[in-house]
Amino acid sequence: LDYRAISESIVYKSHNAFNRKAPLPIGALQSVARHYAEQKELSSKLGLKRHARSNLGEKMRRIKDPVEKQAVLEEAKLIKVEVAELEQKLVAVEDALLGLALQIPNDTHPDVPIGPEEAGVVLSTHGPDPIAASGDRDHMNIGRALGILDFEAGATVTGSSWYYLLGEAALLEMALTNYALSIALKHGFRFVTTPDVVRADIALRCGFQPRDQNADPPVSQMYHIASSNPSHPELVLSGTAEIPLGGMFANQLFTEQVLPLKVVGLGRSFRAEAGARGADTRGLYRVHQFSKLELFIVCGEDTSEQAMEDIRNIQLDIFEGLRFPFRVLDMPTEELGASAYRKYDMEAWMPGRGSWGEISSTSNCTDYQARRLHIRYRRSSGTTSHTPPSSASIHPAPAIPFAHTLNGTAAAIPRLIVALIENGARFDEEGKPVGLDLPSTLKPFWHGTS
Ligand code: AMP
Repeated sequence: LDYRAISESIVYKSHNAFNRKAPLPIGALQSVARHYAEQKELSSKLGLKRHARSNLGEKMRRIKDPVEKQAVLEEAKLIKVEVAELEQKLVAVEDALLGLALQIPNDTHPDVPIGPEEAGVVLSTHGPDPIAASGDRDHMNIGRALGILDFEAGATVTGSSWYYLLGEAALLEMALTNYALSIALKHGFRFVTTPDVVRADIALRCGFQPRDQNADPPVSQMYHIASSNPSHPELVLSGTAEIPLGGMFANQLFTEQVLPLKVVGLGRSFRAEAGARGADTRGLYRVHQFSKLELFIVCGEDTSEQAMEDIRNIQLDIFEGLRFPFRVLDMPTEELGASAYRKYDMEAWMPGRGSWGEISSTSNCTDYQARRLHIRYRRSSGTTSHTPPSSASIHPAPAIPFAHTLNGTAAAIPRLIVALIENGARFDEEGKPVGLDLPSTLKPFWHGTS
């Protein structure tokens, strides 16, 4: 982590953390600056002592006189103790420094609206005009009536907010996945299927807290896998393919010419959703497990803003083809989480819920994840560097900078099914649901009979 940049922009970073409602301990930024100064001082003292120790070693080899030799030996013993003490202090300071700095959220794009969810700005609206809200269009009732959603079996087998997709709903999952995948492939993304179990440490490096210590009482938004062997790494069920996709590039150095790297991952997302309540938990809207196709890009620091627009255009392509009303929002500071520099959400009109519901989310994480995962690239010679607005511009940009990473939802299946059922259900004269009108774009991917 760039302790120098943090120490030199405490005012910006504390405003930023405040605007984002980041759970940062009071005085954390000042402590980083103080520990960083200590670290520098200890490192230079340690360097001097180590140098002195090696000089003494040299001296010792040359001295013949036993009395003189004994004196040098005493001195060397003393220095050894001092070196050990300094090393110990340095480790403690570095641990404290890292622990604090890891909690600092990413910087924020200057155009991001400040405030809570309601401060989000609608950038554009797409698709047909929204139909009137109506309880008759509730996807849960329609899904039950058509025999394609089963929450009772889910509750019996696992618990509440677990479900079965049956027949046409299960086929819809396949069709939507392949439809969205076909568009991602058309845009040059490489298809990857990912592990759904990841090390807690990798999740943390991507900006996901495996345990939310700030909640009272502390809760976990991730499912942890119990291990009887304490020497094994802590494992969690991945909440999004973004984690294994980001982790896939960890500890790698790319040449600038191979960037951007564009992958699309299919994974199961697992969410504990601790504390979720009310209408959001009804039916498929907020469940504990779902299939999700995720776009992920690794690119150079000068191209991530354009890459974010590219992801937005791919998502527009996908969702416009599904023929339901949806809109794009520039998400405000309090919705950015730890890692996003900027975030666009898309929301579909869900008439049965009587509200717009989030169907996708795109984040430009700039170098937040790449620093923690060690994803770097070697600049092509002659490329000029870009310096982020918040960091001090007096320092030259490194020749091997950290990459930027972005992620965006191509298809989060349950929410798309909610939107398709609530907007596309067909009813008979008595108002009984009899089927779904699905967009013709899904036809090539559809294995159902209707
Ligand atoms: P996130 O990674 O939280 O931004 O979520 C990505 C997308 O997954 C969201 O835009 C939703 O469409 C969907 N999603 C998130 N959480 C859930 C959930 N618990 N159940 C169903 N879909 C979800």
